[in-house]
Amino acid sequence: MTYFDWNATAPLHGAARKRFLEAFADAWSNPSTPYRRGVQSRLALDEARSELAVLAGVETEAVIFTSGATEANNGMLREGARRSGAQGEIWISAVEHPSVKEAASFFWGSDRVRSLPVGATGVLDLNRLEEWLRKGRPAMVSVMAANNETGVLQPWREVQQLCREGGIPFHCDAVQWFGKEDGQVCWEGLAGVTLSGHKFGGPKGVGALLVGPEWRGLTLQAGGAQELGSRAGTENIPAVLAMVAALKACFKDPPGGYRRAARDSFEQALLERWPDEVMIHGHASERLWNTSSVCLPEFRSERWILQLDRLGFEVSSGSACSTGKAGPSAVLRAMGVTDDAIRRTIRVSSGWETEPADWESLLDALVTVRERLSGESSSAGPGTVIEI
Ligand code: PMP
Repeated sequence: MTYFDWNATAPLHGAARKRFLEAFADAWSNPSTPYRRGVQSRLALDEARSELAVLAGVETEAVIFTSGATEANNGMLREGARRSGAQGEIWISAVEHPSVKEAASFFWGSDRVRSLPVGATGVLDLNRLEEWLRKGRPAMVSVMAANNETGVLQPWREVQQLCREGGIPFHCDAVQWFGKEDGQVCWEGLAGVTLSGHKFGGPKGVGALLVGPEWRGLTLQAGGAQELGSRAGTENIPAVLAMVAALKACFKDPPGGYRRAARDSFEQALLERWPDEVMIHGHASERLWNTSSVCLPEFRSERWILQLDRLGFEVSSGSACSTGKAGPSAVLRAMGVTDDAIRRTIRVSSGWETEPADWESLLDALVTVRERLSGESSSAGPGTVIEI
């Protein structure tokens, strides 16, 4: 099988697998215990914390390991709501992941959540934000770094700057960006940054919240002094060590370059093959090097996906989290894409192991699938609707 769904999750990196297994032997003891083996685990955890801090360009005390990004996003927004008082608003982009969007409504109440629009390009409308900021002041702003469905990069550093000028706490869900692009973070005006290990080759169920200086000491989980007092619970050391090993491997082998070129050539070839029938969402915007959100001709995405699977290619119809849920993608809707086009959209996302030849084979497979589906439709006879 050729895997083209890296935005849903990345396979465990070899370096991460190695460190994961080693840690079950050399760092399994509870790091809060006083004897030598406990101290060894504590040292391994401390080292992982400083390594991640260096890779992200933050202070060691900023790093709180979590069970993943959903926990980090929920924890940050809950703390924001707690500090905001009863009236304050949170402003989030219209294309946030549900772990930000739904957490915002849950902890702040939907009448205190304002959605910052994106244009047809998928990019947050900075002018609108500036206009709103002239009239009012939210208690928190949360804007993601890169969108999981389209790969579109958001102007989060500019938003951070605006928030800094206004003294507004800013949070960024950097899950799809971190490990794929240059990972350095600038602290000023920042409340927190969210990361997830399994998006860059670490294990699932581990991530981090990088906490800005004024937000240190927040409580993600109560009941113990672990994670600098912010997250109670015995630490998942093998997962943390494996996540950091994966991250080091990503930074050693910076992507972009030929990988981006392979994705671009695929898109170009697809647009030339079926002109006027194919649409690449966010095509003109700055995007991650690995993602292509493609509206295909004629058939619903499920049918394309099923046939591609039979031919050995794994792609998805949008974010993994929305698969199986009724209703078209909120991200594409926010970009003004019609429901009909959304239903024909697949998300293709590559990774560190994807070769240019894989993109070429995917293109050939799409051509084959269209022929097959067209054959099925014509042999089904008039008036027969084929839906899966
Ligand atoms: N934010 C974004 C942008 C994501 O893509 C995801 C994963 N789909 C998450 C948050 C949630 O991450 P996790 O699986 O680590 O909880």
